[in-house]
Amino acid sequence: MARGARTVASMNVIPLHPHIARADAPAFDAGLLARYDGPGPRYTSYPTADRFGPEFAADRYVEALSRLGGTVAPLSLYVHLPFCDSICYYCACNKVVTRDRTRSARYVEYLCREIAAVRRHMAGPGRVRQIHWGGGTPTFLTSAEQAQVMRALLDAFDLDPDAEVAIEVDPRKVDAAGIARLAELGFNRLSVGVQDFDHDVQVAVNRVQGEPETRAVIEAARHHGFDSVNVDLIYGLPRQTVASFARTLDRVADLAPDRIALYGYAHVPHLFKPQRSIAREELPDAATRLATLELAIARLAAAGYVYIGMDHFARRDDPLAVAQRAGRLRRNFQGYTADSADDLLAFGISAIGAPGDAYVQNVRTLGDYYAALDRSELPVLRGHALSADDRVRRAAIHALMCDFALDTAAFSARHGVDFERTFAPELAALATLAADGLVEVRPGAIRVTPRGRLLVRVVAKVFDRYLRDDAVAARYSKVI
Ligand code: SF4
Repeated sequence: MARGARTVASMNVIPLHPHIARADAPAFDAGLLARYDGPGPRYTSYPTADRFGPEFAADRYVEALSRLGGTVAPLSLYVHLPFCDSICYYCACNKVVTRDRTRSARYVEYLCREIAAVRRHMAGPGRVRQIHWGGGTPTFLTSAEQAQVMRALLDAFDLDPDAEVAIEVDPRKVDAAGIARLAELGFNRLSVGVQDFDHDVQVAVNRVQGEPETRAVIEAARHHGFDSVNVDLIYGLPRQTVASFARTLDRVADLAPDRIALYGYAHVPHLFKPQRSIAREELPDAATRLATLELAIARLAAAGYVYIGMDHFARRDDPLAVAQRAGRLRRNFQGYTADSADDLLAFGISAIGAPGDAYVQNVRTLGDYYAALDRSELPVLRGHALSADDRVRRAAIHALMCDFALDTAAFSARHGVDFERTFAPELAALATLAADGLVEVRPGAIRVTPRGRLLVRVVAKVFDRYLRDDAVAARYSKVI
């Protein structure tokens, strides 16, 4: 018998239904969080993007696309719009900062070319269940340019009438009339960047954004029939205190968004140049970060939000929370999703797609993007074709990230593996986490405990084969 299987068999047998796990809120255990805080992938993909390689080039993407486009398997589309006219110092996105408003026209022209080229390589238009525009600042584009991109998407693909069509907005860069135009274009979900309402913090990160303009954007979205509004917050920003963030949370609760994403700021100025403008001595210390997180979790729960996972919260009746209770929650490059699409096509610089059993990422710079499309090539930088082992590990990691539980018998049947044998080393490694109370491992089931919820990345990491022999963990953001 394998070593890991012995570990499981030696524990007490307590019946556990994996779905029970979803009903539990995270428990805050400062000692455990401090002990396990360290770098860890976010697992929006497995393998993580740093494992993609140049051997997966445009020809492999074309091959993957040729198998897509039927009417059964739905598609999800991501469009990257990189321009911003000012810089937020905490930013880790791939963006192009410019005040030259004419630069987006050329980008839009090439983006439309890429959309049409991808469609030409597919077997058919495919059914689209979800569209997401991210950035950058998507509303840097003029209304005419936004319409041009949407037209290119609708010309190339068949959009389901009830599809989710989402856009990220910066309330400083769009007004109520702009929101009305987005509704006319078919957008029905809005993701609003807030980060922190405290003026001192906003000055320290070069993003001064009044609450009235944020409120106006959210109210306009509701007035124009948007189904859902998400607000992004960040804890761990310079000059932030527990008391100041408490005030921000109260103001956000008053705005009553459907979803809230609460990210921990990762200060890695050697990787992201704008962060060099943040004074290290103004950053809250580790104890303040933890106290801020603890407060945020308590306040959001009191305001009626359920914990979805990692850094996401949603109202109990929101589709994300409903999908989680039903065991249908998924994870993709936008984080958690209730979207049922298996294949993701991504357009624009640095965008990452997941067509079939592969990942593919576009080139990162405008120059490379334009040059590839001028050569009539798809602008692929790198990618990865999933092996059978990758597929099984991805399923295990995503089950833990989405459900906080894994029914090993059902998993074995579904993926044609003997879980205990295949993951014997991982089960052995989980014993240490189990001893610390992060997980419970029992015959037939693995369950992330309420104390382990906020550290689910630490549990998921155990199943990452690429991390096993490789000391690259430092390139990932910290878990807390
Ligand atoms: S945080 Fe958003 S708006 Fe700010 S610089 Fe980054 S991409 Fe642009």
